[in-house]
Formats: sequence, C-alpha cells, structure tokens
Amino acid sequence: MAVVKADAYGHGAVPVSKFLASCGVEWFGVATLEEAAALRDAGLKRNILVLGTFFPAQARAAVEINARITASSVPHLEALNRAGTPQKPVKVHLKFDTGMNRMGFSCEESEKLARRWAERRWKNLRLEGIFTHLSSAEQIEAPSNRAQEDLFLRVLTTFEDAGVEVPLRHVANSAGASFHSTLRWDMVRAGIALYGYEFRSRGIKPMGTAPALSLKTRVLHLKRVPRNSPLGYNGTYRMRRPGVIATLPIGYADGVNRRLSFANVKPYSRQNARPEPMCVLIRGRRAPLVGRVSMDLILADVTEIPDVHVGDEVVLLGRSGSQVMTAEDWASYLGTISYEILCALSPRVYRVYVQH
Ligand SMILES: *Cc1c(COP(=O)(O)O)cnc(C)c1O
Repeated sequence: MAVVKADAYGHGAVPVSKFLASCGVEWFGVATLEEAAALRDAGLKRNILVLGTFFPAQARAAVEINARITASSVPHLEALNRAGTPQKPVKVHLKFDTGMNRMGFSCEESEKLARRWAERRWKNLRLEGIFTHLSSAEQIEAPSNRAQEDLFLRVLTTFEDAGVEVPLRHVANSAGASFHSTLRWDMVRAGIALYGYEFRSRGIKPMGTAPALSLKTRVLHLKRVPRNSPLGYNGTYRMRRPGVIATLPIGYADGVNRRLSFANVKPYSRQNARPEPMCVLIRGRRAPLVGRVSMDLILADVTEIPDVHVGDEVVLLGRSGSQVMTAEDWASYLGTISYEILCALSPRVYRVYVQH
C-alpha cells in the first residue's frame, strides 16, 4: 500500500497516486474521507483504504466514496452497517490497538468481535482486513515491537478460531517493513520510504532510497549591505561585516519553518539559541539563512559566493553541485522528523513532476 495521506506527505496526492498506479500499485492509504474523495474525484480507480477514522455520523458519506473504511469501534461498525446494503456491502478493515492507545478496538474485544462476525451480525459489512500500527518500528530493539506483534497474533487467532476469514492482515509502516521482516504479513503500508526517506539501523542494509522531492526558488533581489545593518523583522541579525544579501521569494507560508530563523542580536539570539544558521544552496555552495524567516521572504548571506545573480537557482532541499540538503537536515535542526517538514510544504509551492 502506498500511503498518500497529507497530500502524499506534501508531494501532491493526485499526481503521486496516478504515477504509482501506473507502476502497478493497487492499494492507497489516506487518513481522511476527504482525502479519499479527492483521489476518487481525480479518477483513481484502485483500492483506497481510509486509515484514519471518522465520526459515525459520516458513515453514509464514507460509503459513497467507494473506499475501504477503517473501523475502530462497535458504533463505527453499526453506523457503516446502516449505510451499506447486502448487495453492496461496505468493505471494512478492523484496526486493533496493540499498544499506542490512540485508536482501535482493544485486543480484549477481539473474541467477542470474532464471534459476532461468525454470527453474521453485520449483514451489510464485509471484513476485508485486520490491522494494527507499531508505536516504535524505527527503534529496532524496542520491546514494544515484539509485544505488539504478540497481541496482533492473538487477535488473528481469535478470528481464525471463530472460523472468520481475514483476507488482508497488515502491520508494518516503512520502518516496520524494512526492520521487521516477520511483520510484513499480506501488505505493508509504506509512506515515508516512498518519498525517499528511510530510517537506518546498524546491521540492517539500507533500502538505498533517495529523496524524491527538491524545494527550489530563485534569487529575487541582491543587496550590498554595510557592516551592522539589521536584517528583517526586529533586526534580529546584524551584519558583522559588510556583505551581500540575497532575498529569496519563499517563506513560512510555503513551509519554510519560522524556527529556521537565525539571530545574532540579543535577546533574540538567546531565544532561539543555535550555534549555526541553516543554509540554502546556491551555485553548489552553502549560504547561511540569516534573520527572521518571514511569511513570503527569506534572506541568505551570499557574501562568500562569487558571481551570484538575480534569477540564480537556490536549493532549499535537494542537491546543488556536491552539496546536499535534506528534510532530515531541517528536521534535526528543528528537533522534529522529516515527515513534518515534507507535510508542511504548502499548496502555494508550485509542484513540478519530473520522471527520471
Ligand atoms: C501514516 C501511516 C503509515 C505510513 O507510515 P510511514 O512511517 O510513513 O511509512 C502506515 N500506517 C498507518 C496506519 C499510518 O497512519
């Protein structure tokens, strides 16, 4: 399953899904009913599973989308059953909570549920899958992985013992699939790995992915500034020497996190104390991002880079010459994960799709 929720982690759910469907991917995972509806509206014919949940009051809408629906409580099942018909049963995947305590049936419920399926309690539903989600798949040694696997096995056994067939059993996200081969079951739900980011662990051969996405802009304006010039909002950065500043037409409204700002003037420099600024790449060189990231503009110090011109390509994520910047670099600077960096790229960023 290709997980294309959150606009395919910022990459654009419709073009990404269409491309993956053309590569033979048969299953698509989204978080919400609206995301599923958008893929259907765009003409995607493959199987879609809504991984996130919905309010029982949305059951009828859920059924109309013609997607597989995750049910994580009896009220969800009842509502879906009311929305389905015996001729057109709703295909459901039951989510079991094996350790995250977010969503899902508790494993204690599995016996009762299995019995009800065996008794054909919900005539308008068809059980297509059972799944769970790992809390710590990327931490290869975490004891929770084993504990969750054991609970999942127990759930499956109750269904088996009740004589209920479960066509699709699935557990693993990207890290689960690469680190825990016993958890691949009938399907893996790959998200971040599709976009070229993967977790690494000693002793495990990396998949060898490369980031699919680059984020680029161009130099909008160049300005020579004397020593001591304040840059941007609140003058949080002052030039320590005369230099050249490039203004770039991208900002936090595009997904360039405002905490990538860099200050060297008190008290701002203490507020977001970082030893080094983040850099953007211009002409294969690194240019420090200085001052505040504003909504639509950022500033890069290009004093050290010869021959910068208005219109030059600037790489925020991706490669320039031998220099590389990744969402993981941003994530470690910001104390978050690559997922959040990618998802934050806003609709204002114009997407261009290049097939290599
Ligand atoms: C988002 C999500 C995934 C994908 O996770 P990655 O770590 O991006 O591979 C898999 N399963 C579920 C239930 C999810 O919500």
